[in-house]
Amino acid sequence: MDSKLVIYNTLTRQKERFEPLNAPHVGMYVCGPTVYGDPHLGHARPAITFDLVFRYLKHLGYKVRYVRNITDVGHLEHDADEGEDKIAKKARLEQLEPMEIAQYYTNRYHAAMDALNVLRPSIEPHASGHIIEQQQLVQQILDNGLAYESNGSIYFDIEAYNKRAESTGSQFRYGVLSGRSLENIKDASRELDGVGEKKNQADFALWKKAQPEHIMRWPSPWSDGFPGWHCECTAMGRKYLGEEFDIHGGGMDLVFPHHECEIAQAVGSMGHQAVKYWMHNNMLTINGQKMGKSYNNFITLEQFFTGNHPLLEKAYSPMTIRFFVLSAHYRGTVDFSNEALVAAEKGLEKLLNAISDLERVQASAECDAETKKVVTELRQKCYDAMNDDFATPQVISYLFEACTTINKLVDHKATICADCLKELKETMSLFAFDILGLKAENKGSNDAREEAFGKVMDMVLELRAKAKADKDWATSDKIRDELAAAGFEVKDTKDGVTWKLNK
Ligand SMILES: [Zn+2]
Repeated sequence: MDSKLVIYNTLTRQKERFEPLNAPHVGMYVCGPTVYGDPHLGHARPAITFDLVFRYLKHLGYKVRYVRNITDVGHLEHDADEGEDKIAKKARLEQLEPMEIAQYYTNRYHAAMDALNVLRPSIEPHASGHIIEQQQLVQQILDNGLAYESNGSIYFDIEAYNKRAESTGSQFRYGVLSGRSLENIKDASRELDGVGEKKNQADFALWKKAQPEHIMRWPSPWSDGFPGWHCECTAMGRKYLGEEFDIHGGGMDLVFPHHECEIAQAVGSMGHQAVKYWMHNNMLTINGQKMGKSYNNFITLEQFFTGNHPLLEKAYSPMTIRFFVLSAHYRGTVDFSNEALVAAEKGLEKLLNAISDLERVQASAECDAETKKVVTELRQKCYDAMNDDFATPQVISYLFEACTTINKLVDHKATICADCLKELKETMSLFAFDILGLKAENKGSNDAREEAFGKVMDMVLELRAKAKADKDWATSDKIRDELAAAGFEVKDTKDGVTWKLNK
C-alpha cells in the first residue's frame, strides 16, 4: 500500500511520509480521559482529531487497531507525584465507590462522544484492569538499573537514564520529545513538590505506596499501592499494539510530562522507543483565554449542547462543535467564541443543505466547462489536503467551492452530465460524511416540534368549532371521531376546548 500521506511527528519536529511498520496493519494509541468529571471541550478536540485520523486511515485501506484508554487510577492532582488520586478524591466527596465514579463519567464521556459522531476505538482498556502489566513494566525498569525504591515507592532514575543514553550514544535522553533541558525540568518541578523521597526533583513515580486512607490499592513486591500515572499507557500500548507501533496521539498538554515519561519508560524497559509517529493536537482557548475551572470559563459539552452556561448565547449542536473543531488544523489553536460558533453553524448548514439539494439536481447531456473543472478536480484536491498532515480547513474550503457549483445547478445557472453528477455526489458524501464524520442533525429540538404540533391541533379544533357553528354536524363529528381514533381526547368546557393525547 502506497499512500501519499505525510504526518507531522512531534519527536522529529518535521513532516514525515507515513509508512506503517506492518502495512496494511496500523496500530494507534491515544490517551483517553481521566474519568472524574463531565467531558468538556478539552476532551472533544483530541477525540475528534484522532477520530479523523482513524476514519481516514481506514478509508485508505489500512486495518487500524485503535486503542484509547480510560484512566481510572493513578492520575494524581496537578498531574504531579503528590496529592490525591483524582478519582478517589471525587469518590470521597460524593461518598461513592471509586469505580462508581469511573463508570458514571465513562458513560457520560461515551454519550458525548457518540453525539459528536466520534467512532468508538477498537479497544478501550482501563488502567485498573492492567495493574499486573504495569507492575511488570516497573520490575523491568528496576532490573535494568534505571529505577530505585524509596520508602515503598518506586521512582524512575533520570540521572542514571541520561548517563546510560550518553554511554550508548542513544538520542533518547529525558527531554527528547518536549525539547526541555533537565535544568528547566528541575526548576519547574521544584514548586510542585519537594524532593522528599526522590533522589532528584525530576524523577517521576512508577509505583506509589498508598497512604492508609488511600482506598485504591493493590499488593506489589514493594508496597500496597498503585501505579504511577505514566505507566498505564506504556504497559497497555505494548500489550495491545506490540513493542513497536505506528501512532501515539494526544493533546499537546500531554507532551510533558506524560509522553516524555512514556518514552523514558519504553526505552528504560525494552531498550528502544515504541512509537514511530508522535502526534499532538493543539489546545483550545475560550474567548482568547485558557480554559480551566479557575478561570470561570469551564464549559462542559452538555452545556454547549443545551446552551446552559452564562458564556453561551445559545445552544450549539454536537455537529456544530465537530465542524468548528475541524475548521482549524489540528496543530493550530482554536478559540471558541459565540461569533465563531455561529459562523460554524451557518457554514455547516450551507454544506449540508447543498449536499441534500444535490439530490434534486437533474443531469443534462453535457457539463458546462466550469462545472466540469470543479467536479473533476474536487476529489484529488481533497485527498491532497488530507494527505498533507490532515489539512481539514483546506478540505472544507474545497467542499464550499463545490457548494457554490451545486447552488448554480439548483438555480439552473449551470449544467452537469450524469457521470459528473455521480462523481460530485460521491465525493461530497465521502469527504463530508465518511472522512470528516459530519452527519445531518434533526432540525429543531423536541420543543420546536411540540410547538408546531400544538399549532396544528389548534387549527383542527378551529375547523371543528366552525363546522359546529355552521351546524355542519357531519364534519364536526368526523373530526371528533378521527381525533379519538388517533388517541386524542377532546373536551368541550366552559372555557373552551381542551385536548390531550392518551398515548
Ligand atoms: Zn497516556
